[in-house]
Amino acid sequence: MTREVAIAGAGPAGLAAAILLARQGKGVTVHERFDRPATVGAGFILQPTGLAVLDRMGLTAEVEALAQPIDRLFGRAHPSGRVVLDVRYDALARPRGALGVHRAALFHVLHRAAIKAGVRFETGWPVRSAAHGRLKRADGVMSPAYDLVIDAMGARSPVAHRMHVGVGRRRLDLDFGALWATTPWPDHPHFDSRALQQVYRRADTMIGVLPVGRQPRGKAPLATFFWSLKSADYPRWRAQGLDAWKDRVLAFWPETAPILAALADPDQLTLARYGHHTLRSPVEDRLAVIGDAAHSTSPQLGQGINMGLLDAFALAQALETRADLDKALGAYAAARRWHVRLYQALSLGFTPFYQADGRLRPMVRDHVLGRIARLPGAARLLAATVSGLLLDPRPEPDDPRG
Ligand SMILES: Cc1cc2nc3c(=O)[nH]c(=O)nc-3n(C[C@H](O)[C@H](O)[C@H](O)COP(=O)(O)OP(=O)(O)OC[C@H]3O[C@@H](n4cnc5c(N)ncnc54)[C@H](O)[C@@H]3O)c2cc1C
Repeated sequence: MTREVAIAGAGPAGLAAAILLARQGKGVTVHERFDRPATVGAGFILQPTGLAVLDRMGLTAEVEALAQPIDRLFGRAHPSGRVVLDVRYDALARPRGALGVHRAALFHVLHRAAIKAGVRFETGWPVRSAAHGRLKRADGVMSPAYDLVIDAMGARSPVAHRMHVGVGRRRLDLDFGALWATTPWPDHPHFDSRALQQVYRRADTMIGVLPVGRQPRGKAPLATFFWSLKSADYPRWRAQGLDAWKDRVLAFWPETAPILAALADPDQLTLARYGHHTLRSPVEDRLAVIGDAAHSTSPQLGQGINMGLLDAFALAQALETRADLDKALGAYAAARRWHVRLYQALSLGFTPFYQADGRLRPMVRDHVLGRIARLPGAARLLAATVSGLLLDPRPEPDDPRG
């Protein structure tokens, strides 16, 4: 029987697992490197898959209260204006919209639910490794022994890295990342407050604006703004100065002027470097890996947080329904295997059509994929793909467990 669980990492996946397991009556301690569990960074899209998990956790309404409904993902090429992405959530067989959410809002809801469920927090606890149910801190201090350790330390988890290297693999660092910023929502009719809007020039330039609702204590609606950038070009971007860069953005998308006006300092933009890895197996002796630690990728398909919530739910369900730990870990790995592999492959395949050098792939995107998207049935398939619903991984809504 699994009674005491250590979770490394207080991101969305770690917090969701903590809540679900504590509600099962297990003792749960979350170890987080930062002194105060908190969150930084951009807004994101909560897809119907992630929402199905929040439904089962009874937390959807709290997140919705801070979020912005999203009905559509829309992108056009510059300078032609050709529409190259138009996905509508109402094309789904059972329509359900997505939510634009600020990271701090999701964190706030999950953290509060974790405290309420009795989860303990060890903060300022940077984990270096995990073995035999114990965590080792960066300064060598060992944790007590737990029945199970869950690695939810994100894309650069040292534990997942060791599992990767152990089987002779490594994380693939992608050339392109992006600069992200949160700004007030631009009160301008050009911007659809229920859509992610993007502009592309070939695949080397991508600009996006996503409505993300508000921060827990804020009232004003916010936008997440992003600008695609090669990680290697970041020093040059800083050296060129903010005004020169703003002129470039405005040349592609003049209506972003009110957003750019809110950016007065380059430090308001955070560079996110993207990488890609998938663990061959996310479990070992007394160890389960969830979220980005188990599988990270570029956020092009907008699945990461949703995948982490699905992992947390699948793991909690496996532990609740199987007394034998090894069997439960095997059931978790099996439950998530094909959905994770499919979306990791799709993300790796699609990303270069939106973030890469060269002209061929963007031409295919604009001329072939755009046409395919207009074929009968394609709208539904596209909506299902971006919703994370291929190989539908959602927990059953009427399942009394979990
Ligand atoms: C710019 C950007 C935009 C994105 N947009 C989307 C989107 O629209 N939709 C979507 O679903 N996903 C999106 N993603 C992906 C998403 O952010 C990740 O998939 C998600 O945050 C992963 O959650 P996680 O809980 O697994 O890990 P993380 O969110 O990375 O959390 C890991 C936690 O572990 C802690 N930690 C790390 N190392 C240690 C250590 N050694 N010891 C102790 N604690 C540690 C961290 O401080 C953090 O609290 C985006 C990602 C980026 C970078």
